[in-house]
Amino acid sequence: VPGSGAAGAGRRIGIMGGTFDPVHHGHLVAASEVAGRFELDEVVFVPTGDPWQKAGSRVTPAEDRYLMTVIATASNPRFAVSRVDIDRDGPTYTVDTLRDLRDVYGAGAKLFFITGADALSKILSWKDAEHLFELAHFVGVTRPGFTLSDSHLPADAVSLVQVPALAISSSDCRARVAGGQPVWYLVPDGVVQYIAKRHLYR
Ligand code: ATP
Ligand code: MG
Repeated sequence: VPGSGAAGAGRRIGIMGGTFDPVHHGHLVAASEVAGRFELDEVVFVPTGDPWQKAGSRVTPAEDRYLMTVIATASNPRFAVSRVDIDRDGPTYTVDTLRDLRDVYGAGAKLFFITGADALSKILSWKDAEHLFELAHFVGVTRPGFTLSDSHLPADAVSLVQVPALAISSSDCRARVAGGQPVWYLVPDGVVQYIAKRHLYR
C-alpha cells in the first residue's frame, strides 16, 4: 500500500495524475525526470475516475486504466499507483486527489503534483488555485510543441521542468491501435499485451 507505515513522515512524494488511457513512456519519463530533479522518494500515479454520468464517453473503464498503470510501473521500486480517484464517486478534482493523498502519506510528507504544462495552465486559471498551492508544490513538465505563458506563475508554488522530448500521447496510441499500427516501444511491453488481451481501442 503506497505510503503505509510511519516512514511517511518527511517523505517527498510526487503525484502524477492522468487518464492513462493508456499509460505511455512519455508519462514514465516525465515521472522519472521529476523524481530525479526533486529528489522524490516515491511517485504515485493516480488514474482519474470514470467521467461521471457522461453518456457516450469513450474513456476506457477505470479498472483497465488502473491495471495498465500498475503493469507499467511495477518494475520501478519508487513508482506506485493509487486508487483514490477511481474509488471516489464523481468527476476527479485535483483538490480531492491532494486531500486524499495527504491523508494517505501524512502531514509530514511534502507533495509534488506533476502535470503536463498544458494541464497546469488550466489548473492555474481556476479561481481556487491559491488553495491548491497550500496542498502541494506544482511541477509542470513541458511537452514537445507546448509553451506555457508564465505571466501569473507564483514562483514558490510552481516549477517548470523540461523532460526529454517524447512526442507520445495516449490519443495517438489509441488511434494507432484502432488503425492497426504498432504501439510497441511507445508503451511498456506489458501494456501492449494488455491492450491486445482486452481488445482495447478497437
Ligand atoms: P490524451 O492524448 O488522451 O490527452 P495524454 O497522453 O495527454 O492523453 P494523460 O493521461 O492525459 O495522457 O496525461 C497525464 C499527464 O501526463 C498530463 O499532465 C499530461 O500533460 C502529461 N503527459 C502526457 N504525455 C506526455 C509526454 N509525452 N511528455 C510529458 N508529459 C506528458
Ligand atoms: Mg492529455
